[in-house]
Amino acid sequence: MLCPLFWFLAACAPHSKTVQVDPAFKTQYAAFLADGAAVGAPQSVDDLIIKFDDVNKYGCAEGRVGCCFTQSHETPVVVIDKAAWQGASSAYRSIIIYHELGHCVLNRQHDNATHAGGAFGIPIPASVMQANFSGYLPDLFTDFHEDYAKELFGKGIGPTPFGN
Ligand SMILES: [Zn+2]
Repeated sequence: MLCPLFWFLAACAPHSKTVQVDPAFKTQYAAFLADGAAVGAPQSVDDLIIKFDDVNKYGCAEGRVGCCFTQSHETPVVVIDKAAWQGASSAYRSIIIYHELGHCVLNRQHDNATHAGGAFGIPIPASVMQANFSGYLPDLFTDFHEDYAKELFGKGIGPTPFGN
């Protein structure tokens, strides 16, 4: 790594770490950290921005409420669409932030596995890292919160109300 010799190149320039969480997300962010600690996977976050902005500007996938935007040598950014956030339920807000922090803090990818056990036999997401959790009932995340928290932080496999 020759970066120290060529520190003036943008790609190698060290960036100063920062944690900036818009007050709108403080509740969900604090809950995420508290859950990590509670399940035995405490996180020390020293480089993260969570903010409202134009999600298209950050290349979020079409129709997304938000996304985690990362570039090497840059602070990871969770960007959220303000109108969508304001229209979201409390449960859905938690899903949004936990999911994006799963990407931006835990470096997790999507996991679309499902388990049996939803109402009328509908499969339920095994993980909040499900790419389309919003296609399921947001209340699942509330009903099985501890199971989802354990799964997210690598301490479980998600809710298995029917034993699988
Ligand atoms: Zn995602």
